[in-house]
Amino acid sequence: MNSKIPDRCGWVALAGEYEAHPQLQGNYRTDWAIIGAGFTGQAAARRLAQLVPEQRILLIEAKKFGQGASGRNSGFVVAHESPGHAKLKSHRDLHQYQALHTLDQAGTVALRKWVREFDIDCQWQDISSVHAAHDPDNFPILDNQVRVFEQLGIPTRLLRADELSQRLGTSFYGRGVCCEGGALVQPAALIKGLLDRLPDSVECYEYSPVRKISRRNGKIVLELLHAEVVADRVIICNNAFIPELGVHRNRMFPLALTASLTRPLHPGEERQLGQQVKPWGVLSPQPLGATLRLTADRRLLIRNTAEYRPSGIPIQIIGQKRHQHMLGLKKRFPWLPEDCIEHTWSGHICISRNAKPDFAAVSEGLYLAGCYNASGVARGTILGRLVVDHALGAASDLLDAVHSLTQPALLPPRLFFGIGARVVMRWKRFKGASEA
Ligand SMILES: Cc1cc2nc3c(=O)[nH]c(=O)nc-3n(C[C@H](O)[C@H](O)[C@H](O)COP(=O)(O)OP(=O)(O)OC[C@H]3O[C@@H](n4cnc5c(N)ncnc54)[C@H](O)[C@@H]3O)c2cc1C
Repeated sequence: MNSKIPDRCGWVALAGEYEAHPQLQGNYRTDWAIIGAGFTGQAAARRLAQLVPEQRILLIEAKKFGQGASGRNSGFVVAHESPGHAKLKSHRDLHQYQALHTLDQAGTVALRKWVREFDIDCQWQDISSVHAAHDPDNFPILDNQVRVFEQLGIPTRLLRADELSQRLGTSFYGRGVCCEGGALVQPAALIKGLLDRLPDSVECYEYSPVRKISRRNGKIVLELLHAEVVADRVIICNNAFIPELGVHRNRMFPLALTASLTRPLHPGEERQLGQQVKPWGVLSPQPLGATLRLTADRRLLIRNTAEYRPSGIPIQIIGQKRHQHMLGLKKRFPWLPEDCIEHTWSGHICISRNAKPDFAAVSEGLYLAGCYNASGVARGTILGRLVVDHALGAASDLLDAVHSLTQPALLPPRLFFGIGARVVMRWKRFKGASEA
């Protein structure tokens, strides 16, 4: 097994050159600073530029723009999160699920509109969302999904094994659920396209990690290695890294995921798949089951690992992760050759115990939106916009939907958390193994 495989995101590698932006150096005074330039931070910046065009807006990114999780995800614009993932035990839970669903729909609509308006070349493809299971033990989760969606008036239907096989080109799955409304994208191309079309009034800075947030004379001070930013208002949008800034540390934690992308399939492989098969995406009813895609450029993507590693996946074990991805692909497509994976990479998501996002005014002038439990493309887009509306004192049905959500549940004390998280993840991996 090759242990020297680089952690290189296939989407980013295929998205072409990114525009360069300066690093923050020296002292800055601003009306607004946004920390993190993923879907959430960009949506916040765009909204501020629209609503307060005369004010100074700094968008501050730790890495090169577009290379955080927003460019490294599996590219599902999730409009219908599986209720198997959200825990629905009461009417209240159902209402909360409905609120999240409304927000995800609004995020999907916003992204679709921008892709069309800005003519972003990101392989955007409207699809019906498919959740599918291999293991009969997981079929009840799918049956429950149909029941919940019917209760909420979301058109949905069960897919039989033969329909799934025809659609996906694999007989791995035994039952599925499909509903209209989601999309698939090349995420790095989408986030790059959105960045290129940010209004000019947004000042973009990359390679500029914020190290500390403090207060001075009523202003908020951001400390960086070579810079200091004094801001009237700050929006924290750095998702999995929010706790590193000392904010809401007891409400969320990072998980490290890995994914792989194959080279384009060869004509012989296309025939094995069934040449009529259109690009597709499949999500698992188990949180740690695999997500898979056949992309528009005829590559296969798989994401089937998740672990508690706050400081990331060490480069030495990226080869092991690729091996796990290959095993997952082989279960579905036994005819694939062992060396078909071209890129393997890792990225962080942000998790709360009760699968609720965090959306808050932390203190005067300091706001945050994040923690989307692996469904942040659409949700981050809408919450980034709404956190600005909230900061500016606006009112709307969508803001009511966010405010109706319970906060992320408190985590166990830090001392025990790391051990507990690893044990829980091992259990979830065991539960999800048949779908990995
Ligand atoms: C492998 C993988 C697969 C996924 N698949 C999907 C999927 O298919 N669909 C889906 O909806 N979601 C998916 N997700 C989750 C999704 O990518 C996130 O929910 C989404 O990117 C959240 O957007 P965001 O802007 O809030 O955060 P991020 O995209 O994480 O952006 C935060 C940014 O903040 C920057 N940052 C961090 N700390 C600092 C700091 N101190 N100072 C300045 N900047 C900082 C980071 O570099 C990053 O660019 C996946 C994630 C991974 C890793």
